[in-house]
Amino acid sequence: MTDKIIVHDIEYLIKRTERSSLGITVERDGKVTINAPLRADLKAIERFVSSKTIWIRQKLAYKSRTNRERVRRDFVSGQGFLYLGKSYRLRLISNGTGFVDQKGVSTSLRLHNGYFELSEREKEKGKALFIKWYRKQTEDQLRVRIPRYGHRIGVSVKDFRVLDLGNRWASCGKRGALNFSWRTVMAPIQVFDYILAHEMAHMIERGHTENFWRIVSRVISDYEDHKTWLQVHGVELNI
Ligand SMILES: [Zn+2]
Repeated sequence: MTDKIIVHDIEYLIKRTERSSLGITVERDGKVTINAPLRADLKAIERFVSSKTIWIRQKLAYKSRTNRERVRRDFVSGQGFLYLGKSYRLRLISNGTGFVDQKGVSTSLRLHNGYFELSEREKEKGKALFIKWYRKQTEDQLRVRIPRYGHRIGVSVKDFRVLDLGNRWASCGKRGALNFSWRTVMAPIQVFDYILAHEMAHMIERGHTENFWRIVSRVISDYEDHKTWLQVHGVELNI
């Protein structure tokens, strides 16, 4: 029997076998498996994992560095693309005319039944199509989430833009306007919310002062986990 648990934003697969102690394996692809005795109780497993978090993060950071070079984006079937923290495989579809999305708009790329589907004849434009798709998703998320966090933090965002900000996630523009990278929507939604709350907190406090972090922690109490997650996995949020 296998279970999944999430501790401090890291997902673990629990493999129960006839063994007497707990062990952790960090796979090359970044999957973390806990090898546990058949009857090990979940609370005990969580405590064990929690005590190893620093070690696991170091391992993951190392794997992610060594994997970075290997990430090749040539838009062939089977490649994984991130969306809200999950990886979806790409399928090239030879349908000539592209697809129609839920709103009846024709498109050459869509997320459908757990796969990214890309029209074969648009393969050369793969990168541009993905960026366009990520931008749209980022905009949709922001439209819903900005008012929510604006209300809680007590600021009013006048406008936002989704851009390519290089290696930055977001920036705070003049007169209540915010900029976000289209890459942010590749992160898990909790991390996305942290990026958003972080930027909105800058509307009150420009620097990373104690007061700044107090504002962030009021709305995202476990923000440190998300900050660390970005340090470890940030490089993977790219195509
Ligand atoms: Zn900042």
